[in-house]
Amino acid sequence: MGLFDKFKEVTRKVSEVENNIYHEKRDYLEIYERNLELEREIAERTEELNDANKRMFTLQHIWDMMNSSTPLENVLEAIVNSTQGELGYMHCAIIRKCVDENGDYLHIIAQSNDSLIERLNNMIGTPGIQTRRLNYSQDSIYSDTMKQRVIIQSKSIDLSLKSVLPELSDETVTKILTNQPIKSIIVVPLIAQKKEFGWFCVFSAREELASAEMDFLSLFAKQIEMAITIADLFQAVREQAVTDALTGLYNRRYFEEALEKEVQRTKRQQQPFSIIGIDLDFLKKINDTYGHTFGDLAIKTIAEVLKSNARSVDVPARIGGEEFNVLLPGINSEGAMVAAERIRKSIESVEIDTIGHITGSLGVATYFEHTDNVEELLELTDQAMYASKRNGRNRVTLAKPVTETSWQEIAVNTFIDILSKNRIPKARHLSKELCEKLSAPSNKDEVSKDALYTVADMLTKLYNPMHTPGVIKNKVIMAVSLAKRFDIPKADIDNLKVAVLLYDIGNLMLPDEILQKATPLTDDERNKIKNHPIIAAREILKPISYIQDVLPIIEHHHENWDGTGYPNKLAHDKIPLTSQIILIIDEYFALIEHRPYRTKLSSVDALNIIKADTGKKWNEALVKEFISLIEHDIV
Ligand code: GH3
Ligand code: MG
Repeated sequence: MGLFDKFKEVTRKVSEVENNIYHEKRDYLEIYERNLELEREIAERTEELNDANKRMFTLQHIWDMMNSSTPLENVLEAIVNSTQGELGYMHCAIIRKCVDENGDYLHIIAQSNDSLIERLNNMIGTPGIQTRRLNYSQDSIYSDTMKQRVIIQSKSIDLSLKSVLPELSDETVTKILTNQPIKSIIVVPLIAQKKEFGWFCVFSAREELASAEMDFLSLFAKQIEMAITIADLFQAVREQAVTDALTGLYNRRYFEEALEKEVQRTKRQQQPFSIIGIDLDFLKKINDTYGHTFGDLAIKTIAEVLKSNARSVDVPARIGGEEFNVLLPGINSEGAMVAAERIRKSIESVEIDTIGHITGSLGVATYFEHTDNVEELLELTDQAMYASKRNGRNRVTLAKPVTETSWQEIAVNTFIDILSKNRIPKARHLSKELCEKLSAPSNKDEVSKDALYTVADMLTKLYNPMHTPGVIKNKVIMAVSLAKRFDIPKADIDNLKVAVLLYDIGNLMLPDEILQKATPLTDDERNKIKNHPIIAAREILKPISYIQDVLPIIEHHHENWDGTGYPNKLAHDKIPLTSQIILIIDEYFALIEHRPYRTKLSSVDALNIIKADTGKKWNEALVKEFISLIEHDIV
């Protein structure tokens, strides 16, 4: 190859390389540009995703609130604030369509917190926009959206403002809107449970409304509609649960909650409150003579009297079939007696179709004046009401303050007496500790009651290692509930409470080999020992003068209804009802507790065994009330 050729060759190669370089450069530029475009696209998508995420977040937040029982106003408030804050609207509001005797009007039920609303309020003066009765015009963006069921965007902010506040002069409207970046108002109609609820409004700084934005606002409107529906349902459920179907009065559950709140409030403010208890007289006779429907009518009559006599803060409630209570916040016994007398007179004065006139017996008790223990307050109200019955019905009785020795004191003194005198050899090693527990300084009944249960539990554990602490307290609660169902007077109920704490104390005198026997006792063994605990209890308790009324209850708590029990083979009404109450409660708790010779039974199995002994150990009325107590989960 000549030199020229070589040169040409080199030149060709150089140009080829140059060419390649050029092409690669062009490729590179293209790629670079494509990349830029891609990046832009990614950035856009990311922004969109971010927005979508924000919406999801907001919706999630709202959904969470809707699932809780947050009041509707709070949910709606959160919705408007989220829409306004997160998505850059100037202002958001939820407006309700209302009606009264003067016709349709609008009311803002939620609005976002922003400077715009502050400015508007400053200009229109008091009352602010939220508390005003706003005009509903048949020729406005509101009526148009509602009629057509569509979202409308309008740039005539002044018109929409004037339609709701026609009293504003054109001048004021112009002033309000001057220098405001609002370009349009978007109004979305809200329909909940097929009814026109109102509108969701946003004030936008943009003139146009993108279709995605429209979708988004519709979605929000759906959330609002759902929140309203859920709130309505919640309200319906709540109302059903707190009122009594027959009378529309509050029910027992609500009354107890209100009472609890009143105690808390009273403790802070040191104000008294009273309870009036009312029982319809001779309802059984009305039912028997005129039929149940008229009995119901008599009950409804009392309810109406209570409603019309109640102040707005009072809580009139139907506690049971023909039993009513009224809670009177801030009222002392003097005021409550006046209120009760007014109720008594009103009941007596109503003339009822066919039945004629009815009467009620009333009892009054006041917190702080009579006791500062709620449980006792209710008992005292009941007791006063029964005193009205005993003294001839159709009257009001004021409770007596509990100045006499309470059942807790009697029980504490009894335990201290037994323990300090070492009447129970098996408990000797515990005497000092238990006496200290019982005499720990305290003015509060609650504390000494707890010490009582603890001591009773510890003593029981000495002869029954399987005993569960807390059971004795449950037995006392159940015995009281059962006794009340049989209208047992308070003094007897107090004796019953002491008896529940002491009825098995004689077991502490039994030899260990019998107590710990892992197989059931033979009939012979059982016969030999069955009288023993009762005899022992009598021996232990006999010297204590102030519990002599408690002794018969304990002594007869193993008598059976059919006369096959012990120690006296008493039958039917010869057995004190309080003893029968202990018998059935003792049996139930024994069945649901472990024993050395068997495992514990379920409540259902225990109740079946108890039912099977109807007519033998106890009568049908007692079994019925007992089962109803267990089924109402009293303990
Ligand atoms: P007293 O004056 O002592 O209160 O006598 P009474 O007949 O009103 O009271 P008692 O406790 O002997 O009977 C109450 C009756 O009330 C028995 C029960 O069947 C009836 N009762 C309870 N709830 C209702 C109810 O909702 N409607 C009707 N019609 N009767 C009821
Ligand atoms: Mg009655």
